[in-house]
Amino acid sequence: MAKPVALVTGAGSGIGLATAEKLAQAGYDLFLFDLDPSALDALKKRLEKTGTTAIAMAGDVASEQDMERAAGKILEGFGRLDAVIANAGINGVWAPIDDLTPAEWDTTVHVNLRGTYLTLNKMVPLLKQSGGGAIVIVSSINGVRTFTTPGATAYSATKAAQVAMAQQLALELARHAIRINVVCPGAIETNIEDSTEVRHREESEVPVIWPEGTVPISGGEPGRAGDVADSILFLVSTSSRHITGSPVFVDGGQGLL
Ligand code: NAD
Repeated sequence: MAKPVALVTGAGSGIGLATAEKLAQAGYDLFLFDLDPSALDALKKRLEKTGTTAIAMAGDVASEQDMERAAGKILEGFGRLDAVIANAGINGVWAPIDDLTPAEWDTTVHVNLRGTYLTLNKMVPLLKQSGGGAIVIVSSINGVRTFTTPGATAYSATKAAQVAMAQQLALELARHAIRINVVCPGAIETNIEDSTEVRHREESEVPVIWPEGTVPISGGEPGRAGDVADSILFLVSTSSRHITGSPVFVDGGQGLL
């Protein structure tokens, strides 16, 4: 039987990269999409050594042309699509509302929201053709819970909109046997651009203390990309077959503060 196929956007780094690796270990073939061609190339080579078929494409999730081309390459290379991980995103500029310029606002909305919309707009037809599937959008605790880090208005607006999109689409796509869920990470150690000041504050807010001996770090530290990837894996698997339209928090309790 052919392996299931997953698309991961933003696969070149952080949460996307960890998710691609875990999906490969779970038996998926992969379509890897990112702005960064050299990161994709390195990941593709690593995955292929483990017997995974991986197709990589450098492009911008916010470009309709690029996402259309990605859909064409997925059909051409695999003939099917079973899972979509809409992960690519940016922090953008975090600034007090009276300092945030229209251009800064637009950049964040362009990548995070138009990018998510285009990913779903171009990939849902492929999932339908495959007889169903699962979508996971990578949002943030900023999208749902009160968050104490100031200045994240544009980012939080896009992340809240991603949750709303998933809830709306859960109903629309249910009759096509497509589930859609959202993961909402807290502070996670990745390459995402961040000011050191914000990062220190976020990290000191993580309340979970992992039991000593089971995990080699203590509380007050950020989660790992693999922690988010594990939740994504669960949300595309049949173990979560009765879950759709749900935000899943992967934040060590940070968003509860
Ligand atoms: P990262 O910067 O390590 O990785 C993001 C990847 O996305 C990069 O490889 C980058 O090249 C790619 N990318 C960015 N813009 C793109 C575009 N327009 N088109 C295609 N690819 C693009 O960051 P990360 O922390 O792994 O972030 C992944 C997702 O997780 C984002 O949506 C982010 O908002 C979300 N998130 C991260 C954290 C955190 O603390 N790291 C917390 C909450 C949510």
